[in-house]
Amino acid sequence: MKIVIKFGGTSVGNTERIENVARIIKENSTENQLIIVTSALGETTDYLIEIIEKAPKGDNCDEILVNLEKYHNETIENSIKNDHVKNDVKERTQKMFDALKKSVEGIITLKQATPKSNDQILSYGERLAAPILAAKLEDMGLNSIALTGGDAGIITDDKFGEATPLIKLTKHRLQNNLDSKIEKGIIPVITGFIGKTQEEEITTIGRGGSDYTATLLGACLNVDEIWIMTDVDGLLSADPRILENTKVITNLSYEEATEMAVMGAKSMHPRALEPAKEANIPVRIKNSFNKKSDGTLINDTVIVNEKEIAKAVTRINGIAMINVTGMNMAGNPGIAGQIFSILGRNEINIIMISQSISESNITFLINKSKLTKALSVLEIGLLNKEIVKEIKFEDEVSVVSIVGAGMKGTHGVASRLFNAISKKEINVKMIAQGSSQLNLSFVVNESDSVEAIKSLHDEFIKK
Ligand code: ASP
Ligand code: MG
Repeated sequence: MKIVIKFGGTSVGNTERIENVARIIKENSTENQLIIVTSALGETTDYLIEIIEKAPKGDNCDEILVNLEKYHNETIENSIKNDHVKNDVKERTQKMFDALKKSVEGIITLKQATPKSNDQILSYGERLAAPILAAKLEDMGLNSIALTGGDAGIITDDKFGEATPLIKLTKHRLQNNLDSKIEKGIIPVITGFIGKTQEEEITTIGRGGSDYTATLLGACLNVDEIWIMTDVDGLLSADPRILENTKVITNLSYEEATEMAVMGAKSMHPRALEPAKEANIPVRIKNSFNKKSDGTLINDTVIVNEKEIAKAVTRINGIAMINVTGMNMAGNPGIAGQIFSILGRNEINIIMISQSISESNITFLINKSKLTKALSVLEIGLLNKEIVKEIKFEDEVSVVSIVGAGMKGTHGVASRLFNAISKKEINVKMIAQGSSQLNLSFVVNESDSVEAIKSLHDEFIKK
């Protein structure tokens, strides 16, 4: 088989773990052609984010930089045995740190950063990681080459921070650059999370983007499977930090998994499944640290086990609910259009929408960080128009959802759900169910959300 295997930050977080990853690659390389995608080592991206927050204020970043350098150097020192390979990767790493420090100094001196310079800084996590992993593979006698996403062929638009790959061009370049290498038995280790524009500027594709890199590579290179290696046994029926008795979900269709990803179950990049779904390539989510677990298989098959109504209960926090009301909104076409185009123009993403049948109010959810902006642009755009009377908001709310194909066409799901919730005396503030019927979502006070998840997990997830 031809397989893309992506390793998350935790999987490559220290010497021992890199050794473990290299073993997994070696074992699988005897019978398969592999393309490897790596995230930044451990929490490196979080530290780089700290840098891009501090540097434009003129704050000193030396401590973070020194620690990152030490972390990477120690990992190289302890992981690579062959002197030649070690010196080579050490040198590459040193050059990157020198360049990184120079960029950071520039930002501190000028007290100025741009989305472009931010992406440049953020890219170092993965750019440092790939050569280390490739060197480890060489050290173990495999033939490997480290490439940045951009150099491998991932070309994006120039929306820095959240760039979108230009698929046709990317496919062409990836095949040109990689196919012959793969045929020769060379294992490419490619940085997740980053690409470049046609003008050769480095871009990032959004947090958690390495999953997306993996599926994109998989689709463009026509692989048989895509494996996302992480630190849990697969996608779980609920967040294990909230609940103890979670279950690994063994099978999910692309549609079900998309609903879960959107609702933030295992922080998967929201667009990560698109390329795999489109090319119909199975995605396996597996644990790097537990060989015994089969993980979660996501493909085009809908499997609903008997009496399994929901497969997961998910939650998102950090959102705000806005309610727009006015008696004259009823029967007045175009109000919803106005609201959403105002938000769209201001780059404010809407997470969930509901309108009462009286039409006199529309409620929707947005990211909490955009609340102030949303309120001001809506006030400017709507309140002087005599139609909208009031704009209210709440910012301590969570969305709780149940997800699963078993809900489709099953009657009584909503009643069981709200029964379970009302038994806990939890107040429901807003409800939405898409017509896919794969997801039923509602809004509660953030402080009630854990209790809500527990009761729904008890009610719907088969033990
Ligand atoms: N290193 C990036 C992040 O932490 C990308 C990834 O890990 O997927 O968001
Ligand atoms: Mg990461």
